Amino acid sequence: MQHRYLGNSGFKISEITYGNWLTHGSQIERETAIECVHAALDNGITTFDTADVYANGKAEEILGQALKGLRRESLEIFTKIYWPQGPDPKGANDTGLSRKHILEGINGSLRRLGTDYLDLYQAHRYDVFTPLEETMQAFADVVRAGKALYIGVSEWTGPQIREGHKLAKDLGIQLISSQPEYSMLWRVIEEEIIPVSKELGMSQIVWSPMAQGVLSGKYLPGHEIPKGSRGADPNGGADAISGFLTHDILSNVQQLSPIAEELGLSMAQLAIAWVLRNDNVSAALVGASRPEQIAENVKASGVVLTAEIMQRIDEALGDVIVRDPIETAKRIPNERYS
Ligand code: NDP
Repeated sequence: MQHRYLGNSGFKISEITYGNWLTHGSQIERETAIECVHAALDNGITTFDTADVYANGKAEEILGQALKGLRRESLEIFTKIYWPQGPDPKGANDTGLSRKHILEGINGSLRRLGTDYLDLYQAHRYDVFTPLEETMQAFADVVRAGKALYIGVSEWTGPQIREGHKLAKDLGIQLISSQPEYSMLWRVIEEEIIPVSKELGMSQIVWSPMAQGVLSGKYLPGHEIPKGSRGADPNGGADAISGFLTHDILSNVQQLSPIAEELGLSMAQLAIAWVLRNDNVSAALVGASRPEQIAENVKASGVVLTAEIMQRIDEALGDVIVRDPIETAKRIPNERYS
């Protein structure tokens, strides 16, 4: 497993990072979740990403249990804050990036993860209701209190990243990463987020590099959704993946199969290698519902794709590739969740 620097910092993360959205505390049993984390460790993954909102705190708890007793200095643990988390009824301040929510939220995450500090604390979305100065001051305070080492953001726009980065610099803390969706099918960060990040010395930790499993090629057009897959998961997985399960996308994805075969790769490995060939990507953030998937996927580390292969991938996928940043902008929350 190769490690890459996160942004313009001295901090390195495994280029394949394990994340537990929709799996831990939800789609898969606790025992399988722990086996997946151990498979990740056995295969050289040292970096783990979660969020307080995943399975309403259970994902952080299970990850904490799976990592318990390991040498903390050899791990990189990331979580995120934005959405409400915890038992109902939730309070008016259980959401967003206010000082109150950040300073209280990090304590809950540390407790559930069973650690004294996070390596990276990320704003899960941008909060249009809280002054950015307040948010960045609160992040600076968690860094100064030793509760987080670095700060990151997720799905912020270019101007939001630029402003956050400036405030962080003025406050003497490091805003080093952006966590956006990126895959062969979803390329919207190429136009704005990557150029802005490069200019500011930030890099990407990209989510759903396999388009939630679609790029593994297992969803066949006109066939039933495979049992046990995310597409068949009634607890949120099926909804989350549904946008990719169209006839056109699934048909074009099948055109990648001969390319992967020619390279001696599985389609899942090809998809991960594709995001890792971008020099502003520090890690492909992968999920897994079974330990065997991790053992397969880590083999994408170190794979080099030529310009000719990249061209053939573009031709195979054709017009199902999404490139317009408006598609991400549509998802930016602009309502109070309370
Ligand atoms: P992926 O694109 O890696 O999809 C992972 C899923 O694909 C697995 O759970 C599994 O689902 C399937 N899969 C994995 N490997 C294989 C394989 N070799 N063959 C066939 N199927 C396979 O990423 P995710 O969508 O899971 O996201 C990864 C992480 O990114 C999350 O855990 C989270 O940390 C982060 N994330 C961040 C977001 C943000 O807003 N910041 C949003 C979403 C995710 P199954 O077996 O059930 O079909």
